[in-house]
This record gives sequence, C-alpha cells and structure tokens, in this order.
Amino acid sequence: MKTIIEPFRIKSVEPIRFTTKVERIEIIKTAGYNPFLIHADDVLIDLLTDSGTSAMSAQQWAGIMQGDESYAGSRSFFRFEAAIKKITGLKYIIPTHQGRAAEKIIFSITGGEGKFFPNNTHFDTTRANIEFSGAEAHDFLNEIGKHPEIRADFKGDMDVEKLEKFIIEKGKENIPMVMITITNNSGGGQPVSMKNIRDVKEVCKKYNLPLFIDACRFAENAYFIKMREKGFENKSVLEISQEIFSYADGVTMSAKKDALVNIGGFLALNDEELAMKCRNLLIVTEGFPTYGGLAGRDLEAVAQGLEEVVDEHYLQYRIRSVEYLGEKLVNAGVPIIEPPGGHAIYIDAKRFLPDVPPEQFPGQSVTCELYIEGGIRGCEIGSVMFGKYDAAGKLTPPPMELVRLAIPRRVYTQSHIDFVSEVIIEVYNNRKKLKGYEITYQAPMLRHFTAQFKPLD
Ligand SMILES: *Cc1c(COP(=O)(O)O)cnc(C)c1O
Repeated sequence: MKTIIEPFRIKSVEPIRFTTKVERIEIIKTAGYNPFLIHADDVLIDLLTDSGTSAMSAQQWAGIMQGDESYAGSRSFFRFEAAIKKITGLKYIIPTHQGRAAEKIIFSITGGEGKFFPNNTHFDTTRANIEFSGAEAHDFLNEIGKHPEIRADFKGDMDVEKLEKFIIEKGKENIPMVMITITNNSGGGQPVSMKNIRDVKEVCKKYNLPLFIDACRFAENAYFIKMREKGFENKSVLEISQEIFSYADGVTMSAKKDALVNIGGFLALNDEELAMKCRNLLIVTEGFPTYGGLAGRDLEAVAQGLEEVVDEHYLQYRIRSVEYLGEKLVNAGVPIIEPPGGHAIYIDAKRFLPDVPPEQFPGQSVTCELYIEGGIRGCEIGSVMFGKYDAAGKLTPPPMELVRLAIPRRVYTQSHIDFVSEVIIEVYNNRKKLKGYEITYQAPMLRHFTAQFKPLD
C-alpha cells in the first residue's frame, strides 16, 4: 500500500507566522493561559476547531463569484436546494446562517416545558437550544462509547434499549422527536452504524415519533460505515448517505463542517406544516426563505461543497490524516481516545498527567504546553468546559479530561501533521515538568471561552 496523498494540489497559499518559545511564553501568559484569548496570528498550527475552517476549492471560489444575490428566488438557492435534496431526499430545505440557527428554529417550535429530546449525545449548541426552549435534552450513548481505552468500530451508537425505556417512562406525547448526531461530535467524533440508525428508526416507528439527524459530519460517518460495516463495502458514500437520510424525517446541519465552507447551515424537513412554521420563524430571525441569513454566494459554496465532500478520495485522505496522527501518538505511548474519530484527536489528559487532579485542570495544562512548545492551539474538553460545582464549591468533574485537536479540512499537509505529532510527543516525554492550573477569573456561563488561569507552583 502506497502513501495516501492529499487529493489536491495547492493553488493559493496563506503564510503562517513563526514565533519563538520565549515569545509564546509571554503570549500565553498575557492571554491568561487561555488559548481562546490568543490572537490567531500568534498561532502556528490552529487545531482549535474544524468548524468553518475548511479550505474551499477552486470550484467553490468560482461559485462565490457566480452567486446570485437576488433577494427572492435566487438561482443559488435552487442549486443549494437541489444539492441537499439529492443527498437527503427531504422535501423542504431551509437555509440558515449556521447549525445553531436551524436548531433555534426547530426547537422554538417543537420544544418547550415538559418536552424531552433524546439523542446519542447532544452537541452543546443543540442542548443549549433545547434547554433554552424550556425542554430537557437527554443523552443515550452506548456503554462502549464511554470508554476511551476500548477500541470499537461504532462508538457513537445510541443505546436503543435505554431509548425505548425512556420513551415509555416519559410518554411518547412528550417527546417531539428522537435525534441522532453523526458523527458523535461530543463523544469524540465517533461514527454511528447503519444498523443502529435502522434500530433507532424501528423504535421511532413503533411509537410514531419523527427521527431527526444532526448531520454535521454525515460524509465522514458514511465513510466509516463503508470501511467498517458489513454489506456496505461496495456501496458509494453517496448511496450510504442517501440510505442514512432515508430514515430521517428532518435534518439539521452546520455546513461549516462537512459542507466544506466557512459559514452556513440548513434545516431540512418532510412535514409541510412544520416547514411552514419554521419558514415563518426564519423570516423573523434569519431572512427570506431563499437565503436564510446567507448571501447567494454562500449558498453556491455550500452546494459545491456538498458535491465534493462525498468524493471518496477526499474522504480516504481525510479519515487517514486523522488516523495517521493518532497512530504516531499511540506508537509513542501518548494516551488518546481510540480509535480516532473522523475530525479530531482527543488526548486523554487524565492518563497523560496522572498526578494533576481534575481540580487543577490537567487538560488545560497540556493545552498550554502544546502552545508554548510548538505554537499549536488545541482545546480543553474537561473540567474547565464541563466542571460543575456543588453548594460547598467543590468541583464535580466530567467523566473525562480531554484535549481536542480538531483537524481543519484540506488545510494542513502531512508535514504539518508530522510536526504536530513531534511537538505532542516532546511534551509527553517532558510531562513530569507540567504543572496544574487555577482559575483567577471566570464568567457565570460557558466559562471556558473567557476564563483566566494561573499555573500552580
Ligand atoms: C458545530 C455543530 C453544531 C452547531 O453548528 P454551528 O454551525 O456551530 O452553529 C451542531 N451540532 C454538531 C454535532 C456540531 O458539530
């Protein structure tokens, strides 16, 4: 087997700025040891997120020029609509400025007090929009998905038995929909199997509940199904995607992920009456139904991106480049969530720094050190992001302390990834020198974005 190469050549480049370690020590200190507060110009390799960070293709940039900016009935809308219909088969396509805007609309209409929304794992904005409506968001991830050290093919699967028990307990009339997130972002970008989607659909049918798919990374998920699930080896990723969506009554998607664009999203539905309600709300909050908070050129770029993302040379390179980084780390003994998911590597900071307790934020410590050592920006997903406090002020940590290194699509080459692995391994080899941190400032909500820290002696 030969090296899997980037299935593109580079026509336009963007310089990255080098800094010295001495400069970075000062920069991270000034930022209160919070990488969210560093200027992006001071970052060498930015793995903060894969959202909205994709490199667009020449065809997408051509679409930007060809975008039809008509207020109503734009040609670009019809191209956007056709691209989404081809993949999802759903009837009503509603553009939004990003994923959470689609969520806000659908949950404003279907949510409210006394309602319950089950999912394999709700993404934070999904959960926030459900809770903002007054409803409750519940996660039913399969047991295996909760164990970072266990290798399994479909760690994003939903626990179907627990789902059914929950429906019976809460009453199907109080459950507006069942959701599945593909891939399971909050659970490490782990894929969901077709079998699991079919099984969840059976439960939905039994209780007459609609199934909604949070489709941000549907193509990556479909590619994992092709690689790992029996019976799909010879199906195309487009066919697999079409089968996935054939079970859906609705879809929300952030185009900032698998549509390979920097902004955009949509809501897709089969129910005409619900679509009418959503469009009416869209007009109040986003814009007219043929642009929904986007420019015509954005709609063109999304339509083109959706055609490109199901290309299997692209997906092979995409999934392999994440797996390749994972392999290098595992071979050097660095603890990560295994196997790697589709869009990111998650370092297990608890095993990386066993002597730093959750109260001293081991994930934050590793994140800061990766920046100081190599100018790499990752993101803590642990007690800083999800820690809760009891009445006495004692931390209740989440189950895992992670550092997420999200890989932007089509942005970095193999040598960038080699460099990233070298930096991580160096930090790992010097891990005894790493210290814990304490928080010196925090906001009452979503503190990880703005918190300030201080290293402990
Ligand atoms: C990014 C994301 C969203 C929200 O989309 P935005 O475009 O960031 O608003 C929802 N669900 C999942 C699974 C995501 O990854």
